Amino acid sequence: MFQKSTIQKIAHVIVPLALKGTLSYKVEEEDLQHLAVGMRVEVPIGKRKITTGIIHSFQDQTSNKAYKSILQFLDEAPIVDEVHIRFWEWLSNYYVCEIGQVMHAALPAHLKIDSETVLSLSPFYQEDMPGLNTNEFLITEALLTQKSLSVKELQSILKLNSIAHIIKSLIQKRLIYVKAHALDKYKAKTETYIYWNEAYQGDSLAQEMAFELCSRSERQQKALLYFIEHADQEQKLPRRSISTLPGLDSSVVQALVKKEIWILKDLSISRLNNEAIYVEKAKELSAIQQQALTDIQKQFETQNTCLLHGVTGSGKTQLYIELLREKLSKSEQSLYLLPEIALTTQLVQRLQRVFGDQVYVYHSRLNNQERVELFRQARTGKGIFIGPRSAIFLPFTKLRLILIDESHDGSFKQQDPAPRYHGRDAALYLAHLVGAKTLLGTATPSIESYEHAINGKYGLVTLSERYGDIELPEIQLIDLKKAYQQNRVKHNFSRQMIQSIQDCLDRNKQVIVFQNRRGYAPRMQCTSCGHTQHCTKCDISLTYHKYKNQMICHYCGYAEHPLSQCPKGNQHKLQLQGYGTEKLEEDLQLLFPSARIDRMDLESARSKSAHKRIIKSMENQDIDILVGTQMISKGLDFDAIELVCVVNADPMIQFPDFRSAERAYQLLTQVAGRAGRKNKKGKVLIQTFSPDHPVLNDVIKADYISMFNRESAERKLFKYPPASRLIKIQLKHKKNEVLQRASKHLQQALLANLKSGVLGPSTPAISRINNYYIQEFLIKRNASNKQLQQEKTFLYETSHWLKSIKGMSALRVIIDIDVY
Ligand code: ADP
Ligand code: ZN
Repeated sequence: MFQKSTIQKIAHVIVPLALKGTLSYKVEEEDLQHLAVGMRVEVPIGKRKITTGIIHSFQDQTSNKAYKSILQFLDEAPIVDEVHIRFWEWLSNYYVCEIGQVMHAALPAHLKIDSETVLSLSPFYQEDMPGLNTNEFLITEALLTQKSLSVKELQSILKLNSIAHIIKSLIQKRLIYVKAHALDKYKAKTETYIYWNEAYQGDSLAQEMAFELCSRSERQQKALLYFIEHADQEQKLPRRSISTLPGLDSSVVQALVKKEIWILKDLSISRLNNEAIYVEKAKELSAIQQQALTDIQKQFETQNTCLLHGVTGSGKTQLYIELLREKLSKSEQSLYLLPEIALTTQLVQRLQRVFGDQVYVYHSRLNNQERVELFRQARTGKGIFIGPRSAIFLPFTKLRLILIDESHDGSFKQQDPAPRYHGRDAALYLAHLVGAKTLLGTATPSIESYEHAINGKYGLVTLSERYGDIELPEIQLIDLKKAYQQNRVKHNFSRQMIQSIQDCLDRNKQVIVFQNRRGYAPRMQCTSCGHTQHCTKCDISLTYHKYKNQMICHYCGYAEHPLSQCPKGNQHKLQLQGYGTEKLEEDLQLLFPSARIDRMDLESARSKSAHKRIIKSMENQDIDILVGTQMISKGLDFDAIELVCVVNADPMIQFPDFRSAERAYQLLTQVAGRAGRKNKKGKVLIQTFSPDHPVLNDVIKADYISMFNRESAERKLFKYPPASRLIKIQLKHKKNEVLQRASKHLQQALLANLKSGVLGPSTPAISRINNYYIQEFLIKRNASNKQLQQEKTFLYETSHWLKSIKGMSALRVIIDIDVY
């Protein structure tokens, strides 16, 4: 007898949980041909749980260990490629977190339960199980006969609106499990289009006859005319574009269909680009811009990364457009990364006007279906994608260019949860993996990027002039100390600032007022004893929000009513201290009663529509003064802004952080850049108590290099990035005493292994957030990449070890690589 020798294979599977590494499963030989890296599978974990994972790799089984089997294959083709899994792996190693956490961040939220989630009975279910309540029983009964049902379907069977808690309890009892999601049940969206009926197609004479046939109805003639003028190349038009015209409705369309002039057809359309788009002709680059474009292209011949240092309004976006156009013409994909997607309305429209429906926008407000569609689009190898940092997880197949706009911006860094990655740095690694070029664009490069550029690690291209002979705005400082001494401050505004605003309003120009603090007032404080109204869960004072009449915690969202009396003494009075955007809006209305004032901050622009509305009103000049936080500092391009006012620069320059000077320079330059972008030179006024501060003087002179040289020298002296790598470890626990013990343990471990460069434990400025006490360590590293990776592995193991110490399982250990 001939014995067939088969080598058993095992599959390593990534599951979307904070588990160490991957899990391994046995693969039957006959199944091997159906499986590939990047496919989703359903696997058992632990004793009775089931989850969806992605195949990471295959391996020959060498030991006798008994592995569990994969329960089900969910895909016929990989949903991500091997290269994407290598990318996830790099992220988990570099940022010291689990690959499951990276996968969780990378994939659309189809693993979460919502109404599209499909459920099935798990193998652990047995008929006549005891301990089920009526609703739970009904759900299992329904699943027994139907095999799988969506949450929506179950809702209608049970005639209940909210069944989430029942489903949760059944999942916890391991009786049902999430089988699949919209990703599998994907349905195309359709739109009804109007076409000419056959007799009229492409026959202008017949079409004229149609007008004759409708001579008695002005409305029908109007609809026909609109159709002729607006139908696309295929001679079709969406029905809704007629039925929403003033004076027309769907009855007109019906009438023309009845006359057999038109026919209707349903076409499946993309969910992604259904806003009306007209394509604009390309703008011609100026000679300087053309030179910069050529330089970038030349740099890309030898460099993978290039820094474009261009002053605000120099036409960086115009250059991006040309680079995107080039990739599009070669049928290659581009990714355009931006710090905060809420700020892109103007930019998206600008790109859509050039590239029409080739532009795909990825943002946090996409629903699951849209997210899935964008995922699929990325797999087609076509398109220009705009998005925030998380867009680097789209599974591109032909990505050749990454543009990082406002590349200095701190919000590219993910803070919570893990992976705590820097979108810029991760994008650079992704580009390296897939062979794409990266352009970092900004008016105010980060110290790190500029250092790389002058060291030759990146190419460097500079645009030092605004487009169209517009000069950079004139920036002036206003000394608040003097102004107060001379009694020249009213409602937080100096007389000079008030006069300049009035002057602008008189000439029908727009003003931006910047204050990087939202809410009405940051403190409610006792005038006698200094007691402030504090958050009950955090070590921070509550911010007063007038429109809600509430004191709100900006860290945990806790809210309570403002106190009228100090709890410490019954005669003491409480008073609001300081000011935020909400208060300034009120102050400005008092100073300029007839001005139209609006506000743009996290509250006022929470929804996309509110944000769009404010931008539209700014464009139409329905707003005279716009008050805002840093939301107004980026990307906005309005023609009529002549004056930008910074109410107080001091919090920015005095913030206790090694990056505060760099940040203040960036923020002030960006805000200033909103002034005088077209037509006339703009003006910027900055109020401060420290008019001699060197950073402010660099801002006035628009002298980036001076700021860079000073900061760079200081960082070298004190060994801060880029002269070192900075790692922060935070320990959090609800019991301070446990926390203190844990930080002793960690301190010993760190000192024993890393020897030098360990600072801490220290108590951060806000020592408690959301009931968790916090201790911090800062670690400065100057090691080679290889040694650094070993140290990171040590930190990773140490964090697991800490939590395994008796009584410390609830300890939270947060490792933040390249702190921002
Ligand atoms: P940046 O991105 O550097 O801030 P933009 O690309 O937004 O600069 O350009 C600033 C303004 O100048 C925009 O309103 C833009 O439309 C205009 N602009 C820039 N370059 C050109 C050009 N070559 N032709 C016409 N307008 C231009
Ligand atoms: Zn709080």
